[in-house]
Amino acid sequence: MTDPRRVRQKKEAAAGTGSVVYVMAREQRVNNNWALLYAAELAEKHNVSLVVLFAMGPMFNSGSRRHNDWMIASLQNVEKNLNKHQVPFTVVTGEWADSIPQFVSEHDIHSLVFDFNPLQPVRGWRDAVIKTVDISVHEVDARNVVPCWVAIDKAVYAARTFRPKIKKYWTEFAGDCPKFHKPSVCFSGSLPKLDWEQLRQYRSFECDAPLPDWITPGEDAAQDMLQEFLEERLNDYDELRNDPVKDCTSRLSAYLRWGNISAQQVVSAVESKRGTRYENKAAFLEELVVRRELTDNYVYYTKDYDKLSAAADWAQESLKKHTDDEREYVYTFSEFEEAKTHDELWNAAQMQMVQEGRMHGYMRMYWAKKILEWTNTPEYAIEVAMKLNDRYQLDGRDSNGVVGVMWSICGIHDQGWAERPVFGKIRYMNYNGAKRKFDVDAYVEKYTVAQDTMFHD
Ligand code: FAD
Repeated sequence: MTDPRRVRQKKEAAAGTGSVVYVMAREQRVNNNWALLYAAELAEKHNVSLVVLFAMGPMFNSGSRRHNDWMIASLQNVEKNLNKHQVPFTVVTGEWADSIPQFVSEHDIHSLVFDFNPLQPVRGWRDAVIKTVDISVHEVDARNVVPCWVAIDKAVYAARTFRPKIKKYWTEFAGDCPKFHKPSVCFSGSLPKLDWEQLRQYRSFECDAPLPDWITPGEDAAQDMLQEFLEERLNDYDELRNDPVKDCTSRLSAYLRWGNISAQQVVSAVESKRGTRYENKAAFLEELVVRRELTDNYVYYTKDYDKLSAAADWAQESLKKHTDDEREYVYTFSEFEEAKTHDELWNAAQMQMVQEGRMHGYMRMYWAKKILEWTNTPEYAIEVAMKLNDRYQLDGRDSNGVVGVMWSICGIHDQGWAERPVFGKIRYMNYNGAKRKFDVDAYVEKYTVAQDTMFHD
């Protein structure tokens, strides 16, 4: 049974006679998905059927072709896996405020279940649906092990203040998810056969960057990546996770971002892995749970979460004080995008992101901090970093990206450090620091090969 604290009723109204509809959005998987489980429980309780609906609106936050193609592949995987349970899956297109109410009225729907997403555009779309429909609407946090609104009811200042909140609820929420069973009543209506090629063409996007070939989208492939991590990289995680050349982190972030895998399942798999030192498990779970759930806490409870005004007073004051400091280098958006800075390490990181749709975590910090150093204002630095992150990272356009950029550029969840030009009290990183940590030359060599051909035919 779904813990009732994981669910919030967003609207209470008379029920229609048709199905419970799970509006799948952030959590694109069938297994270990609390939103789907809850929708099935609701359908069973009211003796109605279950339908899963994906409402494909316009692309938001600088998405590119690779995000569109990921989404299509991941939804095809959902369709296949729901078919095994004989649960119907359909896709509607258009603004949520139009397409979802239209579906509800055409099928006399019982109630709607949304999965939780704190990003403002998505909240706005969901609220517009709630205003329009006359049926009950529920929201389920299927992303965080400890539901965002249960952990704490306000934004916290640092990981150290968030960790105890997670610990407090850990035994109540962690553990295996139940298996999905379809409700007893089957859907009796008819839904159109999905034309995936037509759906792929539906969205327009501002960048043509293709899906990289090192990773396969969808929930089946996510399970393979999890196994690969458990067998090949977890044992080195504690010692080597900050080495971009050894590259031994999980590579699960895109799957987590698209909801192709449940963090709760990954926690169980890591905790029960035999023959792995405690330090490796603990270091990984700190990132997967504390750091990751902290990002939804920040985005959910912070107005203007991607603006300098969201930073702590010390950070805002310090950055403002240094806005007029002379910069040794200043680059335009295109120069950043095309990896044309004077710094070969930065360029290599940018190339990794453009080519592979990912960047190693250590390099992400360096990359964003240098954007602060080489732009004229912190406001513009946030804009550039956010846009590039969301345009190229497969895991972009979600809470983790927002916090990663805001941590690097304006000290969100961090503390003040020794004051220096441009950065003020924001934590600084430099090339020599990177050189002490890993083989910079090997990293640069790996990612600069295609630089000249990347943006020109
Ligand atoms: P692992 O080290 O294996 O970690 C496991 C999981 O824990 C990750 O998949 C991720 O979901 C979570 N995680 C790890 N580090 C963090 C962190 N610092 N904060 C929150 N969650 C974390 N992560 C994204 O998922 N999407 C982004 O768009 C994104 N943009 C970033 C931008 C900047 C400037 C910075 C500094 C960090 C950003 N991160 C982002 C966080 C982090 O760098 C990536 O999650 C991580 O590198 C992904 O690789 P992995 O899956 O191998 O991570």
